[in-house]
Amino acid sequence: MIERIIFATGNEDKLREIRMILSDLGVPLVSMKEAGISADIEENGKSFEENAIIKAKTIMELTGEAVMADDSGLQIDYLDGAPGIYSARFMGDDTSYDVKNAALLEKLEGVPDERRTARFACAIACALPGGRILTSYGTMEGRIGYEIKGENGFGYDPIFFLPECGCTSAEISPEKKNELSHRGKALRIMKEKLETILREN
Ligand code: IMP
Repeated sequence: MIERIIFATGNEDKLREIRMILSDLGVPLVSMKEAGISADIEENGKSFEENAIIKAKTIMELTGEAVMADDSGLQIDYLDGAPGIYSARFMGDDTSYDVKNAALLEKLEGVPDERRTARFACAIACALPGGRILTSYGTMEGRIGYEIKGENGFGYDPIFFLPECGCTSAEISPEKKNELSHRGKALRIMKEKLETILREN
């Protein structure tokens, strides 16, 4: 019986997006802070999926409760997939995204549209008491823009141009972002997997 799910992130921006999508799961979602847990987990996996599993499993083993975790990032094709799994750590955790975004735009200076392709990717893992682990994955394809634009979203959203919207992912509404985003897609797959398990119990 799953009474609640702890979401292993300290990132309030992510939590807001996640809560919107999982609001009707029928099982309450609590943050690490709300669950009274603080843990500094070394993300030493080689992929988004490995890192998500490490986070979910570590907190599940610590608490004995169901734990969901995500790992996500921006892959820029021209930079061979960088910053990728190092997206949060790129140029240092404490560096502002204005600085990080400006640095990426500079690295792509003079690069034409067709070589500016990029995607956000997200892996979700859910570790259940008893050891079962569920995973899901989603991506959102786009291009690196030419300037920092938009006030919504977070992180690299202001430089991520969505051709189908004609603007960056920092210029669309939170609802639209959830519909299109890597995290939204991965969460909806995870939600279906969890609903199946909840029905079995
Ligand atoms: P994580 O907390 O290790 O998954 O780090 C993910 C990092 O990737 C974030 O800190 C952002 O830099 C970036 N990122 C992931 N998803 C998004 C998004 O939806 N918009 C903008 N940046 C994102």
